Amino acid sequence: MTAATALVLAYCYFNPDHAFIALLIYISTIIFFSLILTAANSIYRNNQDSLHSSDFVSIVENLNTEMMVWSDDFSYVYLNKKLRELLGITQNEYDQKEMIIKVFGTKNIEGRVINKINENKSYESRFKAKNGVVISIAWSTSLVKKRKNNSIYLSTGFNLTELKKMRVNLASANDFFNSSMELAEIGVIMSSDRKNYRASSELARMLGLKSGSISANQFRALIHPNDRILFDGAINSNDTNKVKSIELRIKSADGNFRWYSYRYKSIDGTDHTLPLFGGAVIDITKEHEKDILIERLAYIDEVTDIANRNKLVDSGQEIFECCQLLNYSYWIIVLDIDRFHIINDTCGYTNGNYVLRNFAHILYKFVTPGGLAARISGDNFALILRDYGDDDLPSSTVRSIQEELSKLAVDELSSISLSCSAGYSKMPDYGSSFLDVLEHAEFALKSGSNSKGSICAYEPSMHDSIIGNTELEKALAVAIDNNELQLFYQPKISLDTGKIMGVEALIRWIKPDGTIVKPDTFVPIAESSHLIGKISEFVLNESCRQNKLWQKMGYPNIVMSINFTSSDFYQADLKEKVFEALVKSGLEAQWLEVELTETLALSDIDFAVSQMNKLRELGVKLAMDDFGTGYSSLSYLQILPITLLKLDRSFITDIEHDNIAYEIVSAVIRIAKSKKIETIAEGIENKTQEEILRMAGCDYAQGFLYGKPMPPEKLQEFFEVNMGI
Ligand code: C2E
Ligand code: MG
Ligand code: MG
Repeated sequence: MTAATALVLAYCYFNPDHAFIALLIYISTIIFFSLILTAANSIYRNNQDSLHSSDFVSIVENLNTEMMVWSDDFSYVYLNKKLRELLGITQNEYDQKEMIIKVFGTKNIEGRVINKINENKSYESRFKAKNGVVISIAWSTSLVKKRKNNSIYLSTGFNLTELKKMRVNLASANDFFNSSMELAEIGVIMSSDRKNYRASSELARMLGLKSGSISANQFRALIHPNDRILFDGAINSNDTNKVKSIELRIKSADGNFRWYSYRYKSIDGTDHTLPLFGGAVIDITKEHEKDILIERLAYIDEVTDIANRNKLVDSGQEIFECCQLLNYSYWIIVLDIDRFHIINDTCGYTNGNYVLRNFAHILYKFVTPGGLAARISGDNFALILRDYGDDDLPSSTVRSIQEELSKLAVDELSSISLSCSAGYSKMPDYGSSFLDVLEHAEFALKSGSNSKGSICAYEPSMHDSIIGNTELEKALAVAIDNNELQLFYQPKISLDTGKIMGVEALIRWIKPDGTIVKPDTFVPIAESSHLIGKISEFVLNESCRQNKLWQKMGYPNIVMSINFTSSDFYQADLKEKVFEALVKSGLEAQWLEVELTETLALSDIDFAVSQMNKLRELGVKLAMDDFGTGYSSLSYLQILPITLLKLDRSFITDIEHDNIAYEIVSAVIRIAKSKKIETIAEGIENKTQEEILRMAGCDYAQGFLYGKPMPPEKLQEFFEVNMGI
């Protein structure tokens, strides 16, 4: 400009004629260009105001995300550094419209990009970067300024390229995972709330599920009813981060139950993650089939084909733990076939096994889902039943079992009616493990087993006596080995002659310190264990030996009475044992008498009669002990081949004052006489009682009036002093 002015001034100096026109043209030209420059500057400034000149662009320039500022007439397009670097271009080096079309990947900017702004959505574009890589960017565009001629927009990019790659990888990883699961035949089931589950495609295929979503109830419905309790235990387990495993039968795609191993784990949720529960489901049917043989050996009872004790204990413990977790309860019933040994002894093992098998079959019919029938040992069985709140369930079930058992016909056993006794307990109420509860049921069985067909519930109060009994049982076993048992003898007197006609052998346990233990304390314990056999053998042999000895010593011949328990009396070889004792001692059968209680004889009347007849065949006498305390039916006198009736002490105690007792006693004596059965009164303690009984026609008397039970030496004195021998 300065140079131009200098030139014009020089021209005017050398051409003064044209100086005025030259100056005029020069000044006009300056004014013209100034106007253009001002206008251009004004346009330029207008743009600069909102864009380059503002802090806004400098911020955008350096942001670490792809950004564009552009006008919809493409008169202004600005790409920030991050986007320029991606495209490999520099500022001002690009065609603005073309660059916008490239970056947005469309010519229809108005329709595809700007429309999204109104919908408040992002627009995703793909284009090639300078290195040839296809870039995916989600553009979020907003209107920065609306002007008369155009509008300015800001597009912020979100580069999806890496994410997309990851998604592709994830999808293929998922496919790979699913295929691996399919190849390995492993189903997966997961839930975050334990109510709604996601089943993997392989599990859906295995179980024939229509969709991958399945509720806990739907899944439970596919599980075999007997195994549902295990599943309930699993989904309610709070034991986190531990892998657990159960084996279940689940209805599969083909409609059949197959065995599956379900290995599950529960994972706690965190602030950022949901809790997870689930695991892998693996079809183990084939392994199970292979294991069946091994399992049969380990878990199935050979004779009856039902579960054995091992299985009972293993499954029982699983059920016990589920009960604790789920607030369920189950009954454990222990059953014993009454006098089963008789069947084995008299009819042989084939018939014995026949009864065991059929009994197992009967029990099996009463098993409900989740329960179990098992043979514990010998003729001991167990039944596990779910408790639904009916406290009568065990006894009513046992009664039904007894009814079915009584119908079981064994030709060789026509004289024996089959029955069973039971004891039961509840879990998890009474006990800290399944074995505890089983033991309680067994104790309940023992405590009621004196009578045939007994059904006895375990009571926690039994516990003390149970402990006491066990201790006593151990001590008694030692006492037997140490010969601490001894027979005492109580005289029986003829009311006619006043002379001794017999003695009753009554057992005593004489401890080393001299304490005498009465039979009422230890005989019932011995009876509920194997010890009674030893005791009875001793009583039989010792009483015969003693009686024969007295005979040899020259004392008058007397009848030796011995007491028999139920288990002694119902032995199949009873006759042989008694015969052996007689032979061994040399005592004639007529000097031996066996006392049986009514309850004992009537618990199995047909068999009792056959046993009694066998003893009668030997010539042994039979007395009905404690008559009047049991069923008290005189009609039995007709059936039972007894030779003596012992009127119970309870009738005698108050006979002097109690008319009714007197009437009963006189009537019984009369009827017995008519049947040719002799009578003896127990518990005579005074002369009045003796007199009343003599008047009533009673044949013999026994009681403290004549003598208490005493050791043999004392009885010899009694012979000599009291009877004047
Ligand atoms: P039991 O067979 O009825 O025996 C009679 C019981 O009455 C005996 O009790 C005897 O001591 C008692 N007694 C006899 N006279 C009187 C009396 O005038 N007054 C009173 N208050 N009691 C009298 P013990 O010896 O304690 O026997 C109790 C029961 O134990 C027996 O009742 C019998 O059932 C059983 N027992 C005794 N010895 C044996 C045995 O060797 N084997 C078996 N299986 N049981 C036995
Ligand atoms: Mg007796
Ligand atoms: Mg008696």
